[in-house]
Amino acid sequence: MAAMAHDKTFPPHRIITSDPDATRRLGVDLGRRMNAGVILLEGALGAGKTTFVKGLAEGLGFKQAPREAGSPTFVLSREYPGRLPLIHIDLYRLDAIGPETGDWLHETFGRQAVTAVEWGERALEWMPRDYLRIRFDHQDDGSRAIAFEVLGQMSFNNGGSKK
Ligand code: ADP
Ligand code: MG
Repeated sequence: MAAMAHDKTFPPHRIITSDPDATRRLGVDLGRRMNAGVILLEGALGAGKTTFVKGLAEGLGFKQAPREAGSPTFVLSREYPGRLPLIHIDLYRLDAIGPETGDWLHETFGRQAVTAVEWGERALEWMPRDYLRIRFDHQDDGSRAIAFEVLGQMSFNNGGSKK
């Protein structure tokens, strides 16, 4: 796949999604455009992080039934094969990130994969220099505001579109 390292229009700054499917589709779009790298997902419980990651798996080419890409509630991480592996980590159940978990995170972030970390703000000191931060906020009307910020440098491809 041709790498388009300088698509200045992606990622968007902030998008409102009015239903779960729109959040999932935003994840699909990002999954198609991701190169290997780390994504930090933050926002309250139920804000839509896992919904988004399901789309991410789909956009990366993960082909199993959607329920297979559920939240890794009882394990720290799950991996889904695709164009690049998607490593889905959820730190919600961890009270503290000890050195062992930190080393494991560090190692995982170095892999040739897309690594999406829910509650990644709990492991800020372990985050790599470059990552994509996505913040999910409940809006009063039930929709979600989804804001993107690149920390350091990241490149995205054109998702196979001819635009
Ligand atoms: P999180 O992983 O952030 O805790 P989930 O993705 O597991 O959140 O859950 C989000 C919940 O909110 C789901 O029950 C989903 O159906 C609901 N929901 C309502 N509107 C939206 C929206 N615009 N985007 C995502 N989820 C939404
Ligand atoms: Mg979740």
